[in-house]
Amino acid sequence: MKRLTFLLIVLTTTLFGQKIPKNIVILIGDGMGITQITGGWIYKRGHLPLKRFTDVGLMTVHPIDALITDSAAGATAFACGKKTRVGMLGVDSAGRPLTNLFDIARKHKKKVGVISTVAVVDATPAAFVAHVPHRRMYDSIAVQYLHNMPDVVIGGGRKFFESHLLPTAKTYRRLRRKGYDIITHPDSIVYASRKRLIALVADVDLPPPARRKLFSLMAWNTAHRLLSKNKHGYVLMIEGGQIDRACHANHPDWYRQEIIDFFNVVEDVLHQAEKDGETLVIVLADHETGGLAIPHGDLTTGEAELKWTTGHHTADLIPVFAYGPGSERFRGVYDNTDIFRKLRALIEAR
Ligand SMILES: [Zn+2]
Repeated sequence: MKRLTFLLIVLTTTLFGQKIPKNIVILIGDGMGITQITGGWIYKRGHLPLKRFTDVGLMTVHPIDALITDSAAGATAFACGKKTRVGMLGVDSAGRPLTNLFDIARKHKKKVGVISTVAVVDATPAAFVAHVPHRRMYDSIAVQYLHNMPDVVIGGGRKFFESHLLPTAKTYRRLRRKGYDIITHPDSIVYASRKRLIALVADVDLPPPARRKLFSLMAWNTAHRLLSKNKHGYVLMIEGGQIDRACHANHPDWYRQEIIDFFNVVEDVLHQAEKDGETLVIVLADHETGGLAIPHGDLTTGEAELKWTTGHHTADLIPVFAYGPGSERFRGVYDNTDIFRKLRALIEAR
């Protein structure tokens, strides 16, 4: 019976052209609604890497008991497939730990990685690793990372891993024995040479793009180089974490730098996926931040006038862009929890 099922799966996937990716890259622009994307398009004078994505969807992002979500409930929805309350991370609304996409990927022999421009214990990356009733339990999240370390971790948040709770030298020794390179300076990321990597290169968040320069591109390129050695592929989450920060602050220049930085990474990942033909790339957000509008601007000069309506998150539906094997599954209008189900099906089908 088992063999017959297997044969049927092989037949249907080849006969009906169902495409299953080897690698999955999930790019999350924290706080990036459709207007934040539009702003990036204007700043790049009409160049939009997202135009090369073949499939587009829209998703609702509300938490279980309210209209407006935060990053914790939002990321839990697509990382774990369940709606939860605002502030809760990797757990359902009763506080029970949920299985996440990384757990499923590892069961299928895939490598996993997170990259963020903020602390890796922050809500969005942490939803793929940790389970806590409140997102600000950074020390607990760091401890859970240490027990369940992704193969590649690149971002900020070093101070939470070097707090009084954890004997640093012993912890790092143990991780080196497990094959990890430990890097603390951003310029050294590209020299990572072991099969695994922990690069915590800032105490909390990284500095804005003007000061962190090519960090995002170096982080992605290094993660891809290490993770792609695995013949079963990988699942990598990359977060542009400061789009949200800049939009909370209603800070035009910071937002402009962040969206351009994020678009550059999207473009590089897409380029890789176009080359290898076996990588699914998904671009989405957890929610919109700032209620941004652009009443005026100029595509030829790349200038945009920004008007914010709030310093908080909004209820906007969020666009999803997909490219690569399985991308057609992301068409339509659905809920953020469906992202988990769609990706789980693709991981389990291979
Ligand atoms: Zn926010």
